[in-house]
Amino acid sequence: MKFIADGMLGKLTRWLRMLGHNVKYSNKLDDAQLITIAKKEQRILLTRDLELYQQATAKGVQAFYVDGQTEAEKLAKLAQKLDISLDIDMATSRCPKCNARVKPVPKEKVADKVEESTFTCYHEFWECPKCGQVYWQGAHWTRIRKTLEEAKNSKNFKS
Ligand SMILES: [Zn+2]
Repeated sequence: MKFIADGMLGKLTRWLRMLGHNVKYSNKLDDAQLITIAKKEQRILLTRDLELYQQATAKGVQAFYVDGQTEAEKLAKLAQKLDISLDIDMATSRCPKCNARVKPVPKEKVADKVEESTFTCYHEFWECPKCGQVYWQGAHWTRIRKTLEEAKNSKNFKS
């Protein structure tokens, strides 16, 4: 499943990329461009704009109207509707910044790219081949897991 997200969904874009989905995102695309790209590249259009959603579906583009307040709620609704897994698998995870698939990188290669304390505490690292960003499952990972758990609970509750 490939997606294109409207300019209001930057956060959700990052989540979906981490979950392994190919999401095109730019806040510089107007409605017509979003629809054209979605159609041409067979991407599901994600939008928080009801009017855009209606325009897209009228033109035969598969679209999903994203409601919900928190990221967990939005993820829960998407997961329910589109059968998306809410577990991050690093083997398929994508760079939240640029959408490229991250690759495991040997620890010694990141020595000069991360803080010394990070280097000492963690042993598994991933790198984005496109933008060079290095990732590890650090302290922030607790928050990521918590949001995904919330999303799973809210999904189960509603279904
Ligand atoms: Zn990247």
